[in-house]
Amino acid sequence: MAWEYAPARESAALANVAPSYRPFVDGTFVDGGGEPLKTVNPATEEVLAEVGTASAADVDRAVAAARKAYETTWGPMPGAERAKYLFRIARIVAERSRELAVLETLDNGKPIRESRDVDVPTAAAHLFHHAGWADKLEHAGLGAGAGGQGPKPLGVVGAVIPWNFPLLMAAWKIAPALATGNTVVLKPAETTPLTALVLAEIAAEAGLPPGVLNVLPGAGDIGSALVGHEGLDKVAFTGSTDVGKEIQRRLAGTGRRLTLELGGKAANIVYDDAALDQAVEGVVDGIFFNQGHVCCAGSRLLVQESIAAEFEELLHARIATLRVGDPLDKNTDVGAINSRAQLDRIVDLAAAGDAEGAQRWTSPWPLPEKGLFFPPTVFSGVEQTMRVAREEIFGPVLSVLTFRTPEEAVAKANNTPYGLSAGIWTDKGSKAMWTAQRVRAGVVWTNTFNKFDPTSPFGGYAESGFGREGGRIGLEAYLDA
Ligand code: NAP
Ligand code: MG
Repeated sequence: MAWEYAPARESAALANVAPSYRPFVDGTFVDGGGEPLKTVNPATEEVLAEVGTASAADVDRAVAAARKAYETTWGPMPGAERAKYLFRIARIVAERSRELAVLETLDNGKPIRESRDVDVPTAAAHLFHHAGWADKLEHAGLGAGAGGQGPKPLGVVGAVIPWNFPLLMAAWKIAPALATGNTVVLKPAETTPLTALVLAEIAAEAGLPPGVLNVLPGAGDIGSALVGHEGLDKVAFTGSTDVGKEIQRRLAGTGRRLTLELGGKAANIVYDDAALDQAVEGVVDGIFFNQGHVCCAGSRLLVQESIAAEFEELLHARIATLRVGDPLDKNTDVGAINSRAQLDRIVDLAAAGDAEGAQRWTSPWPLPEKGLFFPPTVFSGVEQTMRVAREEIFGPVLSVLTFRTPEEAVAKANNTPYGLSAGIWTDKGSKAMWTAQRVRAGVVWTNTFNKFDPTSPFGGYAESGFGREGGRIGLEAYLDA
């Protein structure tokens, strides 16, 4: 029997999109001195809202407000008191989760199923997790600090985040920084500022003292003015490796602390003894989750040669069933590409795959007539020297390479300037352990992929950056430990 497809569209009205938004400085929304920007819904290319942006003078004001809050209210406050604010913020995020999920989907283009089931609950989980740490820092194994009060915070943190997980990345920065007693100036990405500004509204609703959290929408120039600001004690950056390197050069010798969460080109290694249907699901989730706009995406499939043909057939059959389209439809698996610039980049890199001789397979699923979309794509016959094997595409494009022995799998997995994550699929525990010990990546998943939990540290090797976010060890990045 044939099943008819019926759309199940979430209502855009749930997002309560305001006609305009403004920067949040010292506890209030202010008129920023920058040129207002228009944030668009990438699924329709229609303008969602006008957003006031910060100027360099606003960066000065926000850093000064954060300094004052650090010295007068937040820094001296006992951890148990700080925890109450963080628990309140976490609860309000959970209460407003449906609104936040729809808003994230509108501003970013990701499927509502993902913003609802992953982004927003994981953001709330990070806030809850770190709220629980605020009064236990002296027990974190990072030093007891003077008088057993726990190790000292650093001071004022400048945080800059990308557009792929706007609310979640904001929570990853804000939760540990505030729990450890620091204050924050956050710059969200230019194309996705809305949920960070609602998070600021939530912080105000929770009674967070003025200046503890400041949110400055704007483009890269404001990010640059923020990370170079002399009033900061620490910079926490998530974004591209190029910008990360530039920030590292600028901070060298200043004594200011830095953590960098940068790009990746992760290998998903499938051995011939793996449960193939399960591995197919993991490989598909690894690269098509969030349209492949994931720093830890499993963008290189390394499949053992003896099963490569069979595996690729299974993979194509499964990918062909992914629904590409309206991100607000609860049935949608692959949503819109966040910006025209990102779509152009994906198109260019895919063309390089053709030019260098890889074989392109494209999902037959029809794309919507308007909006920014790219079909799920697989390149096979990929060689290690090709651009599609080396560069981060940051889109729904999988590159398939093969290997014969475990040694060759490890050598190919490690043949990358990055080192953020990896996946291993095998029925043999000993083989999984052997491989995990040799793959140079911050996170290695075995017989699963894309598992995120606030108790588990996340971060990279080499050009994927340094420092860890989440878990006990993630606290260290915000403490003078
Ligand atoms: P990006 O260009 O580096 O932008 C990241 C942020 O930095 C944005 O807010 C951006 O502002 C700002 N920025 C741009 N130029 C700057 C400068 N010179 N100084 C300071 N800030 C500056 O990265 P993207 O292309 O948006 O994001 C995708 C990248 O992020 C990918 O490489 C991905 O792998 C990485 N990422 C890593 C992780 C991780 O945890 N390792 C997580 C998510 C994403 P505007 O965008 O507003 O101009
Ligand atoms: Mg947008």
